[in-house]
Amino acid sequence: MPASLIRSRAMITHALDRHACNEIVDGALVQEDGVITAIGAYPELSRKHPNLPVIGTGNEIVLPGFVNGHHHVGLTPVQLGSPDMPLELWFVTRMVMRRVNFYLDTLYSAFEMIGSGVTTVQHLHGWAPGGLAQVEAASDEIIRAYQDVGMRVSYSFAVRDQNRLVYQRDEDFVASLPAELRGPMQRWFDRFQLSLDDHVALFESLHARHNGKRRVKIQLAPANLHWCSDAVLGRFSDLSKKYAVPLHMHLVETAYQKEYAKRRGGGTALEYIDKFGLLGPQMTLGHGVWLSESDIERVAETGTCVCHNCSSNFRLRSGLAALNVLEAKGINTAIGMDEAGINDDRDMLQEMRLVLRAHRVPGMKEADVPTMPQVFRMATEGGAKTTPFGETIGTLEVGHAADLVLLDWRQIAYPYLDAEVKLLDAVMQRAKTSGVTMVMCDGEVIYTDGRFTKVDRDGALKALHDDLQRALSDDEVERRRLSKALLPHVKAFYEGYFDPAAHQPFYRSSSRV
Ligand SMILES: [Zn+2]
Repeated sequence: MPASLIRSRAMITHALDRHACNEIVDGALVQEDGVITAIGAYPELSRKHPNLPVIGTGNEIVLPGFVNGHHHVGLTPVQLGSPDMPLELWFVTRMVMRRVNFYLDTLYSAFEMIGSGVTTVQHLHGWAPGGLAQVEAASDEIIRAYQDVGMRVSYSFAVRDQNRLVYQRDEDFVASLPAELRGPMQRWFDRFQLSLDDHVALFESLHARHNGKRRVKIQLAPANLHWCSDAVLGRFSDLSKKYAVPLHMHLVETAYQKEYAKRRGGGTALEYIDKFGLLGPQMTLGHGVWLSESDIERVAETGTCVCHNCSSNFRLRSGLAALNVLEAKGINTAIGMDEAGINDDRDMLQEMRLVLRAHRVPGMKEADVPTMPQVFRMATEGGAKTTPFGETIGTLEVGHAADLVLLDWRQIAYPYLDAEVKLLDAVMQRAKTSGVTMVMCDGEVIYTDGRFTKVDRDGALKALHDDLQRALSDDEVERRRLSKALLPHVKAFYEGYFDPAAHQPFYRSSSRV
């Protein structure tokens, strides 16, 4: 990338602690070949580098690009006809998902993410039908979309080799159904054909072909405890060590999953995966809503990360994660928008506000609730640490990547903002996507003044729209019918699955009020 000088009204380079950020008024940075080589006051840097093109007018706030720590799809479930429901029922409604064009679908959510300042995404792909060649082709299409639009992706294909619809063996669930549903249910299971060896081969091939790229990394995703056999857990633990790549695993998203773990191993889900050597800084737990107090101690002790998916937890009735306790224990946390935020899009500015507000337990101790620098850190370097890009992204420092976002100060502060309001407080509470004026990834401007520089958004969205005007295929029609017909059976399966009195959420503040 050609070198440039990025100018700001003020830069927020990184969080110093729970209460403060490093800010540089009239700050600027120099990026050369996508790496920050100097950072300081604009007058001084512009004197030193008189010939560099200047990006920014001096009326913007510059922040590190955000990391969406947990993402799956482009068009949202709602858009595809799958309403919000408790997670275990929602899995059934998700069967109506249409065959989408992976490339265009990925661009759709990338536009939303970038438009809210996200420069890196943890893309956890799953449920691609077919055998190895077909799934690998789908993976390549998703990665190609991110490459074309210019953002960073940490890609993984989630492995599920058992209990793929309910927390029961696939064959037992099929056998439990009325005769007329067994065929369609079996055909749905048969769509997903990867064996464990295929999953390993897929990872190794993608890793070999993509991992050397600057904006692409490949990592591992055992999908969730109920979806993974012991063979998967052992093999993926070994693969993570062999290739030195991180893992991201949904864990205890719901109380039903907590109960599932108890039935499978007699203890907690965390204790179960601990036996496979899966805990440590290389592991990020997605959701973690139902971690117990002792689980959280173990997460802290091992340096395991947690990705907080706040909107998703609300939408699918999963519960409220114990974010305040995780923070008090010093656990690294990220923010994930999962399928979509509460306004059914991917808006990191709004998601940060939700995280900030959702955990305000009653009381007066500031230590008990999220602070603005904390949430800012979660959305930047906290998320970065859960990806293979690690410390090369997430903060604006010399030697780190030039991944950044410019926010229009006028959108935040006009027609009036008291001078006493702290800069980060104003940004966190008032910045909107309409004020995102420029997004840079790897030193390249990928979005400026509402326009994507590398991809034609209107053309891509039109192509996505046109592609989905085709009539439903026979298998899509069958899956729609199946999804509706299955709901009462799945509800019956979970009836009395756990005793709510025995599963109380653990989300209190660190010090009792
Ligand atoms: Zn997820």
